[in-house]
This record gives sequence, structure tokens and C-alpha cells, in this order.
Amino acid sequence: MKFLYSDTQDYVDPEYDFINDRNAPGRQRYWDDMYAHEMMTPTPYDGLLVAMSAVRQAPGVAKSKVRYSTAEEQRILRDGIRKFLRFGGPKHKSAMLMGDCGAFAYVEHPKPAYSPEEVVEFYADADFTHGVSPDHIIFDCNTGNPPRSQVADAVIERYEITLSNAQEFIKLAKDEGEPFEPVGAVQGWSPKSIAEAAVQLEKMGYRYLAIGGLVPLKVEVIHQVLKPLRQAIKPETNIHLLGFAKADHIHEFTGYGITSFDSTSPLIRAFKDEKQNYYLPSPKGGLEYYAAVRIPQAIENTRLMQGIKRGIFSAEDLRKREQKALEAMRKYDIGKEKFITTLNAVMDYQRFLTIGNGEKAEQQEKDLQKMHKHVSRTLEEMPWKRCQCDVCKAVGVEVIIFRSSNRNRRRGFHNLGVYHKHVQQILEKHS
Ligand SMILES: [Zn+2]
Repeated sequence: MKFLYSDTQDYVDPEYDFINDRNAPGRQRYWDDMYAHEMMTPTPYDGLLVAMSAVRQAPGVAKSKVRYSTAEEQRILRDGIRKFLRFGGPKHKSAMLMGDCGAFAYVEHPKPAYSPEEVVEFYADADFTHGVSPDHIIFDCNTGNPPRSQVADAVIERYEITLSNAQEFIKLAKDEGEPFEPVGAVQGWSPKSIAEAAVQLEKMGYRYLAIGGLVPLKVEVIHQVLKPLRQAIKPETNIHLLGFAKADHIHEFTGYGITSFDSTSPLIRAFKDEKQNYYLPSPKGGLEYYAAVRIPQAIENTRLMQGIKRGIFSAEDLRKREQKALEAMRKYDIGKEKFITTLNAVMDYQRFLTIGNGEKAEQQEKDLQKMHKHVSRTLEEMPWKRCQCDVCKAVGVEVIIFRSSNRNRRRGFHNLGVYHKHVQQILEKHS
């Protein structure tokens, strides 16, 4: 089972100056920056997934957050996606590079944003190893398996569009001599209809199927989808899980003969989760999670800036507290500051962040207590000292500080590495 990381243009400045919080002099974004696979050995994933909607702006579709520029798109088409992502060389030359359409980008539209012809051409020009047919997401999965006649027309239409696109897509890919492995996108309104779609795709000639629409589904429902699907298709047919958000539950899914899945969650959690920001293997097996220590830059924090503008607190005073918290963390890391002094310095600065959030005083007190608990645990256990990955070895305590993308993304890279190892261990155990 291969773990693919779904690309969101994640790279960091390897020469970032953590003490002064600035990039290396003359640093050029992307060119001087490093991807996780350039920075870490072993590589923290088995391959990458890139969404066409992130690369090519479709007419009438709103711009997504992750967007390549037109110049970047042209370079991807000219040099190939592998060269663009610098995911080649002896170490990575055969690693999977899967393309999909990024169907979320056009989910509100009546039809997919790209035609099968355009998609085949895009994957072929960009030299993907695998390409998913253009699908149209169906969100509700009804485990009661209602018949077609009881399902909304719009849903049936999405089902039919996905299948007819797949038919055209594989024909075009074959006409081109299969420059990439065609992967058939599966959508459906129920476990039964999903399994039926999978069988149809096999009949069209697909040897690899990608199950879409899983993102919002509960773990239990995903099981209810995969069980009949696996039984309906040939044992040798490969399965990919698209946007598998329940990455923590991957150990439950080893029985379905899944070949690959993609997820962003280990990286995203590093800075989007309230408390599960830093992953470590648990001594009891599985993973455990720690909260990062939040010391955001006052000048980049809108709440703090508003507070300064409204005269609630002074910029000078705030900066002092911010520096004090940072210094305490660095001293604590090398055994030169006490636990309680460090905790107090961090919480003192945190108090200002919380005061600025506009909540009622009672709620603020609750938030602070929660934060106190999370930070205490992280400081007590010093998880960053237990990790030997290239990121943690290089930047030490900075990895646990929630502050600027150069720390937050590095923590995400670390999480990818821990998660990847976790997946490999599960597979070893399973076999
Ligand atoms: Zn690490």
C-alpha cells in the first residue's frame, strides 16, 4: 500500500534564519527552497498526487488556494511534472506521480471542468505515471442502497458523466499508446452503485480504480463501501483511495487489497489542528500527537495587530513578551530554563492572543486552561528530542514552535515522515 502525498506546493527555505525570522538573503522562492523529498531521507512518501485544477485554471471555476502560475504550468508541460517537482534522480525516478482532476474545484458546476481529451493530453504532456479519469463528485453515500429510481436526477447525471468520461478517457489513452496508466474514477450514491460502477470500469479495460467522494464519509461507511466493491471486482485490480482524510485509521483498511491512497492530513494537521500538531510513533503502537507551542509573530497576527491598533496593548510590550517566550523555549530545550518559567512565558504571550479573539471572558478562561494543559504536556515530554528525522535533527526545538510557515511546514514534513513509517509498519505486521 503506497502512501501518496497530495501536493499543495509545499517547500521551505533550507537556509531560513530562525533567530531573526527571515529568509536567507537573495532567496528565490521555489528555486532555492526544498521539498520534503529533497530534505529528508528516507523520502516521507511513496509518491505524489497533483490535481489538474491546481495547475490549470478552468474557465468559470473559482481559483483554488493552491494554484500554479501560468509560467509554472507551462514549465510543467514542457519539462514534465517529475522535473518540476524535482522528484527524480536515482532515488525517486520510479516513484509514482499520479494526476487527478481535483474534482472539488468544480463540484458546484453541472459538468466537470475538463474534457477527457484535455485531461489525457495534460497527463501525457506532463509525464504522469498514473492519471485518473475526469470524475464528478457525488457527496451523499446512502448505505441503504436505494435503487436508481429513488435517487435525484442530478446525482444520476453525475454517475453517468463519470462513467461516460471514463469510457472516452481510456479509449483516448489507449490511442496514445498509454503514456500513463489510466486509472478509472469511481463515484456512486451507495455502496452498491459504487461497486457496480467499479465493475463497469473493469469491463472498459481499467486495471486500476480510484475511489472518490470518500472525504466526508465516516470510517464505518468507508468499510461499507469497500467491502462489496472488493468482492465485486477482480482480485488483481488495483484500488486507490482518493483524498483519504481518515489517515489515522489506515490500519483498519489493510484487508481490501488497497494499492495506494493519498492524503494531506499529516502535513495540514501541523498547523490546522487545535492540538494534534506533532506526530510521534506511540510506544504502545500506532501514533501519538502533541500540540505545537504557539508563539505567532505579533506583526503577522491579525488579532494582535487589531489589538495594537485599538490601543488594547502596545506593540513594544507585545514584542518583549514574544521574545521572552521564544528565548525561554530555546533555553528550556538545552536545559537552561526551568519548566515552569518556560510555561509561564508561553502562556503570558498566549493570554494576549486569547484576549484578542472576541470571545466572552468565561470562554477565554476555558481556552486558556485548555492551552495550558496542551503546552504543559508538550514541554514536559519534549517530543522533538525523541525524533531523529532530518528536520528535527536540523532545527531542534524550532519544529515544535507554531510560528511562520518555515516552522509549521517543517513540522508537517516531519509528520509525513512519521506517518509514512507508520504505514510501512502496519503493512509489515499485516503481511
Ligand atoms: Zn522529526
